[in-house]
Parts: sequence; structure tokens; C-alpha cells
Amino acid sequence: MMVETKTTCPYCGVGCGVIASVAGDGAVSVRGDPEHPANFGRLCSKGSALAETLDLEGRLLYPEVFGKRVGWDEALDLVARKFSAAIAEHGPDSIAFYVSGQLLTEDYYVANKLMKGFIGSANIDTNSRLCMASSVAGHRRAFGADTVPGVYEDLEQADLVILTGSNLAWCHPVLYQRIAAAREKRPEMKVVLIDPRRTMTCDIADMHLGVRPDGDVALFNGLLAYLARTSALDDDFIRDHANGFAEALAAAQMGEADIPSLTGLSSEEIEAFYRLFETTEKVVTCYSQGVNQSSSGTNKVNAIINCHLATGRIGRPGTGPFSLTGQPNAMGGREVGGLANMLAAHMEIENPTHRERVRRFWNAPVIAEKPGLKAVDMFRAVADGRIKALWIMGTNPVVSMPDADGVADAIRNCPFVVVSDIMRDTDTTRYAHVLLPAAGWGEKDGTVTNSERRISRQRPFLDSPGEARADWRIIGGVATRMGFGKAFAYENPAEIFAEHAALSGFENEGERDFDIGGYTGISGADYNGLKPFQWPVPAQNTPLCPGGTFRFFGNGGFYTSDRKARFIAVQSAATERTNPDFPLVLNTGRIRDQWHTMTRTGKSARLSAHFAEPFAEINPADAKALGIADAALVRIASPYGEVHVRALITGRQSRSAVFVPMHWTDQFASRGRVDALVPSVTDSTSGQPALKHVAVSVEPYRAQ
Ligand code: SF4
Repeated sequence: MMVETKTTCPYCGVGCGVIASVAGDGAVSVRGDPEHPANFGRLCSKGSALAETLDLEGRLLYPEVFGKRVGWDEALDLVARKFSAAIAEHGPDSIAFYVSGQLLTEDYYVANKLMKGFIGSANIDTNSRLCMASSVAGHRRAFGADTVPGVYEDLEQADLVILTGSNLAWCHPVLYQRIAAAREKRPEMKVVLIDPRRTMTCDIADMHLGVRPDGDVALFNGLLAYLARTSALDDDFIRDHANGFAEALAAAQMGEADIPSLTGLSSEEIEAFYRLFETTEKVVTCYSQGVNQSSSGTNKVNAIINCHLATGRIGRPGTGPFSLTGQPNAMGGREVGGLANMLAAHMEIENPTHRERVRRFWNAPVIAEKPGLKAVDMFRAVADGRIKALWIMGTNPVVSMPDADGVADAIRNCPFVVVSDIMRDTDTTRYAHVLLPAAGWGEKDGTVTNSERRISRQRPFLDSPGEARADWRIIGGVATRMGFGKAFAYENPAEIFAEHAALSGFENEGERDFDIGGYTGISGADYNGLKPFQWPVPAQNTPLCPGGTFRFFGNGGFYTSDRKARFIAVQSAATERTNPDFPLVLNTGRIRDQWHTMTRTGKSARLSAHFAEPFAEINPADAKALGIADAALVRIASPYGEVHVRALITGRQSRSAVFVPMHWTDQFASRGRVDALVPSVTDSTSGQPALKHVAVSVEPYRAQ
């Protein structure tokens, strides 16, 4: 007999619905859920290979302390004792949690509650900081809250889809499929790709703008100035629904003369793009890591949003700026305050009313009074000894953080390190004093939120192996042993979800700048039966709003005190990082068939057949000048480290630049961790690292 379970893909932020079937002999197969509004039955290569990644090889099955198997009680007792001792001796800010967009919303909620409400520190940050923090900051500046205005349907209804800093074909493949299918039906629909590389996404692009790294602010500022000059503005929308236009336009006009040099584009290319935007009513601009992972990431986001506000191309079908999140639950983490500078339910940590509201709701003894350490700063604090005890949940920072070797040294030297993970041997678990086995996909039970704010259930269809447990249960076990048991006595994730929903409406009546968090129309009562829906869900939509809020800002109504959006004046500036010793620009990113540090996708022979080892895309002219043959081993170095990978010589790569994927770890390839080359440069507003603009040298590899 076949048992079918509706669940959600654990990889990218598209959040596709999956039907998992377990046969009588235990064999698992997966297919796309035809009823799920994110994918309508589609899956990409990663999603369709999910069943190939579920074996137990390499799983962490039992708690371990100093490399020895122990019982859960002994492990959790030790963690609670060490954390309590660090707090007693050095204060609450001496401990930190580094969590993950792989956690379910319920896990995130409980981790935040423990750190911010009971320990009293905000030192909890997430690997989602590496993926979308600049979008969060840009949304908050422009809209007054972290909201994605549009929905996936807008990508199909637009007459012009601009993809900037997004290799959609590989990184959000089902959205790529949806746009490609829409384009088949409506050949008049246009696609523009703005990316230094000619990625596979170019295959559906009518225009490719090979912009220089960090040229986006100049390009979109120039667009704003052009729209003003050509009288293409929506004056009514600007007057009725936004503030700050004159300042933003003045800033944009100041840099107009430098647009060709800052973008590396010809005047003809720029003019053609601007005309297309001007003359197309329904425009969506999608942006992803190429925008976010930059030292000017937040300004890039606001430069894009400014153009949509100025033309009123927001809140209507087929229009809007659209941030595509990388991880399956980056958005869910944001909803429960999974960033060091936020509280649950979109409340602000700097706002004393919000702090007190959350504290009262939790009946917590304390509440974090100030923002905590963002990811890069958190590992700096580990390195310089301010952090005495660190808990890493479901992520592999020794591979994925910038200055990855420095992060490895910091963790190695930290007095007490706990790692909860599904895998026994990652580049990070090797430095843990305590290992806690977490439940994996197919075993976990909870919710995730995708890039269009759609909340879907992840449902279990397998028993957890060994003694693996849900993350929320592990965190609750530590909280209980630290003396906070009453507040963490959850029996199941439905209780946590119901508490989260209740917090979003707690003492919220009439406070217009806060109603964004609302889940008051949802209860935990039919948790298992929840169909995918979009937040917010106002109370009048009870009991189980089937749809939630589809699209924001159709009639203004932004989440600011005067309900108007804010134009943000941003300036473009050259960010030259290369020098004679490190003359090429390194860009890092993802490939089609691997996910993050390959702990799961690396198990599938089918997925690994796409690229069997790490590589560096190099332009043919650069390869010739450097004496590099195709498939030869090359050494890529920065002041921070070096990697040894094979050359893939391709005209898709622009001159004076090199692309290396971020997936490979020391387990899969010696000297394959590309983030070892990346300095800890961050966007000053969002704290997001600049993972795509690194000065490096490239040469043929010669054995020492
Ligand atoms: Fe999973 Fe993303 Fe592929 Fe959908 S597009 S199947 S969510 S990896």
C-alpha cells in the first residue's frame, strides 16, 4: 500500500509543493504537487531527486559529548549548564545562536524566544543573513516593514520581467519554468537579464546587460533620472502614496554622467533598457543574490524600488519589485524575528513598546534591549573571545561564511561549541564539543514561508532515525534545563504555531504600523490540514483563511506612520577592489543541481553528474593570457586564502572576472571552499556580506 503525504521542498525559496509516496517496502518517491500554487506540479532537478537523498549514510544519530555517544539528558544538561555558567560569569551577550533558513518557522520561533526573551540577548542570527538581509533592510526603509508586495503570478502577467542579479534558471528553476511557459503563450512578453555573466537564464532573455559588479545602483538611478526626463512618472502615485521623491531624484541625477563607466554598459544598451521600462506598463523587477550579496546591497534594493514607486508600478497585477529569497524558510525566519535586529511578528527591537509587548506576551523575565550581533560580527566576536558559548543549528559556516578559514579558527578556539545537525561529519561539526542529532526533511513537522509570503506545511512521512529530534524540541530541552521550562512546555509544533499567530495580534488593535505581522485569522486547531496561504491573515478571514493576503499596496497603505512609501536617496559609487596583485574579480554562486554545502544533494549520483567537482569559469581571452588550458587545475588566491579548482573556459564569463560555485566543502574537494577567499566586507545597513565581488589572482596550479 502506498501512503502519500503533501509536504514542501526543503531547498530554494520558491517553496514548491511535493507529494511524497512511501511504498509498503519503505521505498520513497516524490512528485510535484499539482495543487500547490507555487509550482502546480512542477519540480526542478533538485526537487525531483529528493528521494535519492534520504538514506542514513552519514547521519548523526545520537548525541555526542567530546566525541563520545551519550544520552540526551547528559548532552542537554551539559549545554544548559555551560550556557548558564557563561551568562552568570560574562553576561547574556557572551553566548550566541547561529541558526539557519533550513529551520522550520516553529524551530526559529522557539530559538528566538529563548535567546531574546529568556536569556535576554539578541545574539541570534541566521545564515539567511547571507541571502536576503539587504532586501529586508530595503523593504523596511521603503515600505516601513519587511514585505514582498507581489506574487508569483505577477511574473507571468508582466509584459517585461527584469531579472537582476538572479540566475533564475539554476537558482529558482520552477519560477524560470513559469516565466518560460508564460512567454510561450505571450511572445510579446520581454525578459531582460542584468548580470555580469551570460548565465543559462540568458536563454529566455531578449536583452542581456553584462553590468559591472556593483553597477546596479548607477543603472537604476539612471533609470529614475531618465523616467523623470521623459515624463514617464506617475505623479499621482508619487503625490498620494510616497515621500522623498525630490531627494531621491536629485541623488540619481547627480550620477548620470558616470553611468556608462560605473555600469560598463554602452550608451546604446542603457538607452534601450530605459526605453523598454518606460514604454512597458506591466513591469516586474526580480532580484536575488547578485543584488543582496553586496556592500551596497540595500542601496541597490532601494534604487530598484524607487523606480517602481516613481511609476506606480507596484501593487497591481504584473508589476512590482520582487525579492527572491534563496532558502526554503528565509521568509519564515523573518516573520518570527530570526534576525539579530528584529523581534517576532515583524516587531522592532529598537521600539520599547514592541519589546514590552513581546516580553509580556511571553511572560519573560527579560527581553533583549538592543540588536544583537549579525552573522559576520558574531563570528568576529567568537574570534576575539567575546562569545564564550556558541550554538550552531543546521548550517555549515566553516564553508559558507566569508573568511571561511578565519571562521574555522574562531570556532575551533571557542570555549564551548554546540552543533545540532542532521549530518555527523561536516566541516563545522568537527569543531563541536557537543553534537545534537536533528530530524531531517521527511521527518520534520512544521511550516515554511516562500518568497511570495506563502506559508506551507512540511509534513513528516518517515520516522526520525536513531535518537534524532525536532529542533524545537532540542531547544526546548535546553530552555527547560536553564530554568525556563514553563514557557517551553510545547507538546507539538501546532502549539508553537498557534502561539506565534496569537503573538502577531497581541495588543495590536488599531496600531496601523504593526498590523503587517497578523496571523490572527489562523489558529493551530487545524494545523495539519493547513493549505498553503499567504500572510498576513487578518482576523476577519477566520477560521482558516484559504488565501490570506494576495498582493500588497494596490492603493498605497504602506506600513509607515503616514501610510506612505519612502523614496530613498541612494548614490552610486565605484567599488574597485582589484589591484595588480589580485587583478580579477571573483563572483561566487550556485549551480543547478547542488544545494548549499551538498550535505544532501551530494548524496545523489544523478545530481553530482551535472558537475562532479568544483570549477572556475574563465573567459577565453583571460585563459589565454594566463596560460590556462580548459579543464586544467588552477590556483585562485586572495589575501585570505586559496582554492584549487578546474578551469572551465567559456564565453559566458565576462573578461577580467571568474566565477566559482560555493557548494564544495573540504569533504568533497580538497581546497574547494571558495568562501575562504572572501573578505568579511558587509553592507553597512544590512550586514550582508559581499560574496560576489572579491579581488583574486588566477594562475595554473603547480604542485609545491
Ligand atoms: Fe525545490 Fe526550489 Fe526546485 Fe522548487 S524550484 S523543486 S523549491 S529546489
